Amino acid sequence: MENLKLDELIVRSAWATGNVSPPITENEKNIVRAMRVFFKMDVDRFNKSYNTFTTLNGHLPQLKDKDPITKIISRWAACEVAFKENEGLKESNLSDEETGFISQITDAINIPSFIKLDIRADVFQLAFNVIYEISSPQLLTDNHLLEIIKIEKEEGVIYTRRIQPLLKAFFNSLEKNNLYDTWEDNYLALIKYKSELQDMFGKMDLKEFDARYKELKPLISNLKKEQIAKEKQLAKELAEKEKQLAKEKAEKEKQLAKEKAELEKNKTHEYSVSNGIHYCKYCGGDEKWREFDCKRELGHKYTLRRVQNKFGFDYSFQPVCNNCGDIRHYCQPDNKYEFKCEVK
Ligand SMILES: [Zn+2]
Ligand SMILES: [Zn+2]
Repeated sequence: MENLKLDELIVRSAWATGNVSPPITENEKNIVRAMRVFFKMDVDRFNKSYNTFTTLNGHLPQLKDKDPITKIISRWAACEVAFKENEGLKESNLSDEETGFISQITDAINIPSFIKLDIRADVFQLAFNVIYEISSPQLLTDNHLLEIIKIEKEEGVIYTRRIQPLLKAFFNSLEKNNLYDTWEDNYLALIKYKSELQDMFGKMDLKEFDARYKELKPLISNLKKEQIAKEKQLAKELAEKEKQLAKEKAEKEKQLAKEKAELEKNKTHEYSVSNGIHYCKYCGGDEKWREFDCKRELGHKYTLRRVQNKFGFDYSFQPVCNNCGDIRHYCQPDNKYEFKCEVK
């Protein structure tokens, strides 16, 4: 995917916002037209940047690692367009589509706490001041104004008047919220994109931010070290916890397997042969009761003894429990008599 220039990201954010709930009005279009004049973006460049993406929000991922000016201005340019349609009305009168699209931009610019309003409240007026400057309707009609802006860019006046106060408020707000790593990321992005930003807004003198970065650097690197140590400690604790859980799980599985084996064993007959008669030592059942489970858990222990038959006076060999004296007559299916063995 082709990377858009910074001013193209800003203008596209504004234009897309106008299009999330069509039709885009003349007033909304004029905001974008004025910005194009301010950024010296001809219609070919605008169309090309617009058509790079097939969806309105296609360019948003590119905002993520950009400098704070581009990110903040992209968001408020979108707000300006959304408010324009509702002139004189409040923010709550935005359409769901517009509100949704602006919150997508808010997410895309990836500044912690921005969503929680802390930083937003500190910068919003200054952000709008920039928007008013770069989207003034006079830009479309007043050639004299364009001359002045050209000179102001060359002399760094736009920066001093509009951009610097915004940056100051933004970086101060990050400090106030203890977001030092965000501070560093945004400062480094500002340096990275400085020359492109100067093409857009004119000369920029970032001395005070350079100086502040030097002051903050030891603090930032200490915080990073602390953060790394903290993450290491957490990872260690997590690993130990996982190890413990795995151990407990293995023990539990072992226990379950043991219980299962025990259950299986309890169901299995163990046949003996005596006087030509097959009988199970634990349930007394003979071969024909094989299809039923054994009941070892009941605790009987049968051996073959000569006892009187149940129905008649003759004697024969029958399994008799050594403990409780129960006689297992072969006519009884062994799954029916589930009394526990009790020694008499
Ligand atoms: Zn048995
Ligand atoms: Zn018994």
